[in-house]
Amino acid sequence: MNDILKKEIISFPHMGNYYSPIYSLLSRLFNNCKILIPAKITKKTMELGEKHSPDFVCTPFKYNLGNFIESLEKGATVLIQAGGGCRFGYYAELQEQILRDLGYNFTFITLLDAKKVDVFRLYKKFKLINPDLKFHSFIYDFLLTIKMINILDKIENIIRENIVFEVNEGEFDKLHRDFVYKLQFVGDFKSLNILYKDTNEKIKNIVIDKNKKVLKVGIIGELYTEMEPFSSFFIERELSKMGMQVKRYTTVTYLLFEKGKAEKVLLERAKKYIKFPLGADGTESVAHSIELCEDGFDGIIHTKPFGCTPEINAIPILQKISRDYNVPIIYFTFDMQTSETGVKTRLEAFYDMIKMKKEAGYV
Ligand code: SF4
Repeated sequence: MNDILKKEIISFPHMGNYYSPIYSLLSRLFNNCKILIPAKITKKTMELGEKHSPDFVCTPFKYNLGNFIESLEKGATVLIQAGGGCRFGYYAELQEQILRDLGYNFTFITLLDAKKVDVFRLYKKFKLINPDLKFHSFIYDFLLTIKMINILDKIENIIRENIVFEVNEGEFDKLHRDFVYKLQFVGDFKSLNILYKDTNEKIKNIVIDKNKKVLKVGIIGELYTEMEPFSSFFIERELSKMGMQVKRYTTVTYLLFEKGKAEKVLLERAKKYIKFPLGADGTESVAHSIELCEDGFDGIIHTKPFGCTPEINAIPILQKISRDYNVPIIYFTFDMQTSETGVKTRLEAFYDMIKMKKEAGYV
């Protein structure tokens, strides 16, 4: 049995740097298989996804499909899809069918059912790939991965907040790369805590100039375009390079463990504008933009993929919030036709506009 299973090659789609804890988890759970991190997303990934997807489907579907095709071409035999809410919850079945129609032979596993993490169902699904998997080690690895994701989110939040103040350009980027690389080889809580402590120490040693005058902006919108940098042409990095401090709410920690409880609070905060949830990330977009305006942010960047209905619904409300609070909001829709130059040009114009507005004392 193990000899057959040794031939299995497991892969999964990209979303930001979460490939690192996912790789670590899968390597521990399936030590009888090879784990294949999908190729870095490139224009080719987008083109492959676009070519084989229905026209009307939202853009993250196409990215995921492109990831899967590239992994299958490299020999993947097991594909893992997260599943979840909104239309994302239906991606798996459709992607599986498209890939089978293309002639690929593979096992397809969806992790989340009905937006929730069901530990027992997950265990049963993983047992199909590794029959030797013990429940106690599955629970240990599962909890360790949750902690890894949480620490990844914490470190990335600190970097996001501080990178604009760094004195020696590139120090945060280098630390970030090293941390993400080392994270994939963590195998227990002790080494995770050491890595976390060590990374925090290194962060403290990076010289920053908090007196530097920067503009504060918040990113809101659909989760994939917020968390997968390639899908938004690395918008966060561009904003920091221009001299803007970036706040972003959406992380996997938030989606898995806070989003469910947050809805009541978000609706209360947004009650002047909405009575009912908008679906997916739409309620967050409205409530968080109010919070950013009230907290004195200079501008807001709203991102969404082409075809994302909940965010389309949020836009007229965001326009009203922008007028009411006199805080500019810029809207980006990303798809395969979006030009990187166009995004940069609009960002530069947005930066100039909020800078002039602030200097003129209009904020
Ligand atoms: S939130 Fe938007 S992009 Fe994501 S699945 Fe729903 S419609 Fe598609």
